[in-house]
Amino acid sequence: MEAVHEVLILGSGLAGLRAAVEAAQVSKDELDIAIISRVQLMRSHSVCAEGGTAAVMHPEEGDSLELHAWDTIRGSDFLADQDVVKLFVEESPKEILQLDHWGIPWSRRPDGRINQRPFGGHSFDRATFAEDKTGFFEMHTLYDTLQKYASITRYAECYVTSILIDNGVFQGLVAWDLATGEFFLIRGKALVIATGGACRMFGFTTYSLTATGDGMAMAYRAGMPLKDMEFVQFHPTGLVQPGILITEGARGEGGYLINNKGERFMEKYAPSKMETAPRDIVSRAETTEILEGRGFEGPDGLDYVHLDLRHLGADKINERLPLIREVAIKFAFIDPIEQPIPVRPAAHYFMGGIHTNIDGATPVEGVWAAGEAACGSMHGANRLGANSTAECLVWGRITGEKAARYAMGQKSLPPAPQQMVQEEEKHLFGRIGRGDGSEDVFAIRTELQRTMDHNAAVYRNGPDMEEALKKVRELKGRIEHVKVEDESRIYNTNILAVLEAINLIDLAEVIVAGGLARTESRGAHSRRDFTERDDVNWGKHTLARYTPEGPRLDYIPVNITMWQPVERKY
Ligand SMILES: Cc1cc2nc3c(=O)[nH]c(=O)nc-3n(C[C@H](O)[C@H](O)[C@H](O)COP(=O)(O)OP(=O)(O)OC[C@H]3O[C@@H](n4cnc5c(N)ncnc54)[C@H](O)[C@@H]3O)c2cc1C
Repeated sequence: MEAVHEVLILGSGLAGLRAAVEAAQVSKDELDIAIISRVQLMRSHSVCAEGGTAAVMHPEEGDSLELHAWDTIRGSDFLADQDVVKLFVEESPKEILQLDHWGIPWSRRPDGRINQRPFGGHSFDRATFAEDKTGFFEMHTLYDTLQKYASITRYAECYVTSILIDNGVFQGLVAWDLATGEFFLIRGKALVIATGGACRMFGFTTYSLTATGDGMAMAYRAGMPLKDMEFVQFHPTGLVQPGILITEGARGEGGYLINNKGERFMEKYAPSKMETAPRDIVSRAETTEILEGRGFEGPDGLDYVHLDLRHLGADKINERLPLIREVAIKFAFIDPIEQPIPVRPAAHYFMGGIHTNIDGATPVEGVWAAGEAACGSMHGANRLGANSTAECLVWGRITGEKAARYAMGQKSLPPAPQQMVQEEEKHLFGRIGRGDGSEDVFAIRTELQRTMDHNAAVYRNGPDMEEALKKVRELKGRIEHVKVEDESRIYNTNILAVLEAINLIDLAEVIVAGGLARTESRGAHSRRDFTERDDVNWGKHTLARYTPEGPRLDYIPVNITMWQPVERKY
């Protein structure tokens, strides 16, 4: 079977839905657009976003675009491309208003103006929010807006297995419809990759089960470079034990972090910002407290510190943080109105991703990338909270428009690469999971997660990462021996587990190889054996290109247009 459209949007999270709306709008509903998602559209991970979306909305009170740009660049430990950040801060307020016009119920002040809350690393209350369910309301608003357009086809529960490229030009996607078992080619003139992050390679993570980095891994194997993958963000407040996120908004609203001595330990690490310092700094502080014996003993080695909200009072918790209260009660049996919440750093976000330019264009003709799957170099070595949903909206819009205009300018589709599809089908159903059965895919995934949790998390060093690289390469070989007994093509979750594991292993190899090579500490990449930032040798972006033997690393300069790097202190 073959499906033909003009613009393909791979992913239906915030970035994908925003891109789809824009593509429909600029083409006046005339382009044939398809959204392809491995889950039901509204089950995309973005619905989990809690705390807020950053934008300068109240310049009359002292905030400014320049201040937002400075906070973001300083937060990035001077690895962000500054022209990209400038564009971001200029565009994000427009996206907040656009969503407002489309009907989002932003939380408001008593005078009716849009409310904003403090967030880590921002020097102004800049996180625009809808209670603590910001992503949920943003997704619904975009989804509702999509209903206005007739030209959009949706492929839900359709798992894309590869991106086809010939001679540097996009050809199409190969998709597996999980509900019918059908395997088919989706042709299009332009593609926006919006497939999200890959935090499921870590065991303790805030991310949805579906965040397995498929788009990044497919792009990488199809020849697109991945950028700055060694920078993985750990969020300071993953709920122990399930890892569910306790939004930074909880600290933004005034929550304290407390060790087993009853101390607000952030005084030692970031005296001016305290609990609202950037995430890399707070996560290191918590890890240090735990390693030095000032944490609380947790289950399965998940030692923790306390997030105390009790002093905020029941009214504020119920009004501003209702989801957090519900999550703490249901998953940790703790009511934050009466007890502190057990938290520790959890894998949360990929600063790196598919290399793009400022317009979200990849090096492949006809392919753009947006959202967490992309790396347009906005977050550098450490993302500020609330900047990701804003980035999804800004580059969802930009890439949706660029892809639509490109498609409108193309008279015909590239030829159907039928042979590539046949090869892919043979590979998927004839080779994947057809080993001798001496290995189990779920054991392999657990080993990968343990390795990444222990050897490539908040603190790193050379020997640990070398061991991780060895392990990841061993797992790459061992996965060939997995046998999937179920031969059905309908909802075959065992084959899916193997495909996801292959993707996660490929990406883990890139992360560890990039981290080993980068002999400095910067943002979220913090090495015990190279504790200083080294701008002379490492003030540059890493590019990783696929080879069958492992990633080939290369470097490109950081675009510094406004501020020279200075010491980062809070
Ligand atoms: C719990 C939590 C709370 C957060 N809160 C905030 C916040 O308050 N503010 C903020 O700025 N950021 C927040 N973040 C980060 C932010 O939510 C994400 O970075 C952002 O939502 C990612 O959106 P996306 O559109 O790039 O991808 P996603 O929302 O992850 O969507 C990815 C899409 O790609 C599809 N897909 C993936 N692989 C395939 C495949 N093989 N075939 C077909 N489809 C595929 C999926 O089905 C999905 O539709 C939070 C993150 C977490 C984990």
